Amino acid sequence: MNAICFHAFGGPEVLTLENTSRPVIGPNEVLLHLKAAALNHLDMWVRSGTRERNIPLPHIPGSDGAGIIAEIGIAVDYLKVGDPVLISPGISCGHCDMCFSGNDNLCRTFHVLGTREDGTYAEFVKLPAVNVQPIPAGLDFTQAAAIPLVFLTAWHMLVGLTKIKPGEIVLVHAAGSGVGSAAIQIAKLFGAHVITTAGSEEKLTKAKTLGADDGINYKEKDFVEEVKRLTARRGVDIVFEHNGGEIFEKSIFTLAKGGRLVTCGSTSDYIGKIDLRYLFAKHLTLHGSFMGTKRELIDVLRFFENGTGNRQLMPVIDSVFPLAKAPDAHHRMEERKNFGKIVLSV
Ligand SMILES: [Zn+2]
Repeated sequence: MNAICFHAFGGPEVLTLENTSRPVIGPNEVLLHLKAAALNHLDMWVRSGTRERNIPLPHIPGSDGAGIIAEIGIAVDYLKVGDPVLISPGISCGHCDMCFSGNDNLCRTFHVLGTREDGTYAEFVKLPAVNVQPIPAGLDFTQAAAIPLVFLTAWHMLVGLTKIKPGEIVLVHAAGSGVGSAAIQIAKLFGAHVITTAGSEEKLTKAKTLGADDGINYKEKDFVEEVKRLTARRGVDIVFEHNGGEIFEKSIFTLAKGGRLVTCGSTSDYIGKIDLRYLFAKHLTLHGSFMGTKRELIDVLRFFENGTGNRQLMPVIDSVFPLAKAPDAHHRMEERKNFGKIVLSV
């Protein structure tokens, strides 16, 4: 099969199109014939070897994907060959206390597909049968592949952890990122007022089409001062943070009393200082977040259904590259040129 592999960690140039052998599935697994795979920042770290450990080489990256079931393991009786599905990318043991309680993303073995085993930049991928879900009606494979990781992450952060409520003010950083464009939509779905940031007016205009109420161009204005101005110095109830470093540090100063900051990814810098006086005196809460649960993916997928003709959430597609152009796709993400998801068509 065709697959994008790398044999050593490095820049986008280490990704090469190769002919590799098709995976062989076990009794509880399925073989998925991929039609589309979506990029995430995680893929950059897997490729560069900078954040993830235990990555076997050579390696096929990729966590998000959608396609058609090509084979099912002999113990799998609830799926059939030919089913169109998307990938639920969190892999856990399925039999520990956390998995039994539904908190599978807190399982000690929890990891994302495409890190410890081969991922989705390929014609075929094997994965546990419990890690696929039906594609919401009316969505194509490109759209389906662009949903899971970012919408699950944003849902867990806003709904699972900070428990967003109608009328609250939410600051969503980096509207153009996959997770930012998902968070804006989810916050609006819950009736919040959304302030978002981006590095260009063009991105802020697109963010408003997703429902954002206010936009801050962080290259031209200080976002802390702008949040104070927009909220009449009250501050926001929730900060949705995924950059780390200075953005994390300054975000603390945008929170209202009793505010919550939820952070994931730290795509710019994973060190962030905090002035503890603000934390205790303003009764702030910090949430760390990594992915979400299998159940939460089912919850969020309901809002992509088109049953009433009025779909409430939509994947945001920036661009589609052929599989062989994966290095160009990685360059585009690393240069932060995208608004929404970059997808590989397989
Ligand atoms: Zn477990």
